[in-house]
Amino acid sequence: MTEYGFDTLQIHAGARPDPATGARQTPIYQTTAYVFRDADHAAALFNLQEVGYIYSRLTNPTVAALQERVATLEGGAGAVCCSSGHAAQIMALFPLMMPGDNVVVSTRLYGGSITQFSQTIKRFGWSATFIDFDDTDAVKAAIDDRTKAVFCESISNPGGYLTDIPAMAAIADAAGIPLIVDNTLATPYLCKPIEMGATLVVHSMTKYLTGNGTVTGGVVVDSGNFNWSASDKFPSLSQPEPAYHGLKFHETFGNLAFTFHGIAIGLRDLGMTLNPQAAHYTMLGIETLSLRMQRHVENAVKVAAWLENDERVDYVTYAGLPSSPYAARAAALYPKGVGALFTFAVKGGYEACVKLVDTVQIFSHVANLGDTRSLIIHSASTTHRQLTPEQQDAAGAGASVVRLSIGLEDPDDLIRDLDQALSVATA
Ligand SMILES: *Cc1c(COP(=O)(O)O)cnc(C)c1O
Repeated sequence: MTEYGFDTLQIHAGARPDPATGARQTPIYQTTAYVFRDADHAAALFNLQEVGYIYSRLTNPTVAALQERVATLEGGAGAVCCSSGHAAQIMALFPLMMPGDNVVVSTRLYGGSITQFSQTIKRFGWSATFIDFDDTDAVKAAIDDRTKAVFCESISNPGGYLTDIPAMAAIADAAGIPLIVDNTLATPYLCKPIEMGATLVVHSMTKYLTGNGTVTGGVVVDSGNFNWSASDKFPSLSQPEPAYHGLKFHETFGNLAFTFHGIAIGLRDLGMTLNPQAAHYTMLGIETLSLRMQRHVENAVKVAAWLENDERVDYVTYAGLPSSPYAARAAALYPKGVGALFTFAVKGGYEACVKLVDTVQIFSHVANLGDTRSLIIHSASTTHRQLTPEQQDAAGAGASVVRLSIGLEDPDDLIRDLDQALSVATA
C-alpha cells in the first residue's frame, strides 16, 4: 500500500481487521505459542519454507503488524522489532559483524550509543572507529577491509547537528558496505534515510514513535536494496549459515534476507524481543505521528527563537534557527523541520543550570526525550557527570548547557515557564 500518503499509512499500514473476530483495532495477542496444523506444517515453519507463528520470542501477530507499519513508513522491505533502541543497534550489526570486524561511527551520537560502541561491543570482538562525519575524507579514510558498516544519526542528540545522509550513503556504497542510520530523533515523517541511500534504519521507538513515555522498544528496518552477495564481506547472509543448518539467507530470501536473519537467528538466539503490549502502545502512537511531529517542530521553533533572543542565554543549538551552521543542510534535507530537541547555554554556568532545572514547573527533569510532555535535563550534572569537562564540552554537554525536548503543550506556556525559571536561576 505504498501508493498511499504518509497520514494514511501511519494509520493503516500493517493493520487489517482481525481475521478471528473482525476487531478493527489490532488486538494485543498476549500469546506465547501457536498450534501447528500437523507435523508437516511444523517442519515447514521451522525450515522457514512457510511463514507463520511458532513462538513469540520470534514472531507475534501484534508485533508483526507494527513491523509492517514501520517498514512501510520508512520505505523498507522488512523490519524486526526488538526490546529497546539499544537492542536494535546490536540487532542491526549482528548479521554483518564477525570478531575482528569494525564499524565506522559518527562522534555525534546519543550518549548511550557512544558507550555501547566504544566499550560494550568489544566483548563481541567488534570495534568502532569514531569520526567527525562533516569530514568526508576522514570517513573514507577510516574504512578498512574489516569495516562492515557506517553508522550515524539523522538528527543527532543533543541537537543542532544534521548528518548529510546522501554523502554518507555514497561513501558506504563506494566501499561496498551498508549505511545504518539511527532515525530516532527525526522519525520517518521528517526524514526518510532509505530514500537518501541508507541500507538499514534503526529506531528507539521509546521516543517519538510511541511518543508519550509509555514504552521501551526498538526496530531495525531493512531497505532490501543491498546486495549481500556482491562480496565475501557478509558470509552470514551470503554463505551457508551454520547457525541455521547451512541455510543461505540471501539466496533463499532475496530482499528479505536481513529481516529473516534478524528473526530466525537474531531474536531466536539473542532474545531481545518486543512484547505485544508494547507493540500495541507503539502502534497507537504511530497513528498520530505526523500530527505530533508537526506540532513538536512548531513549538521547538518558537521556544528556540525566544531563547536565542533572551539576554540570559548565551547561545542556542537548534538547526531550525536561521543562525544555525546547519540551516542550509536543514533546508535541503529536512524540509519539514529538524525535530524538537536542542540545547542552550545559560549565562551563570553550572549553578544557574542546576537552579533552572529545579525551578521549571511544566518541564520535567528526566533523562528521556520525544514525549508529549516537555522535558529538561542538565547533562553535566546527570547523564554526562562521569566525563571530564573537556569530554563534556566535546559532547555538547558543557557545564552551562541545558537540553530541552519540546513537547506538545501550548508554546506560550513553555516560554513563560522558562522565563520565570531563568529569572530565578540567573538572579
Ligand atoms: C534513546 C535513544 C537510543 C536508545 O534507545 P533505548 O530505547 O533507550 O534503548 C538510541 N538512539 C537515540 C538517538 C536515542 O535517542
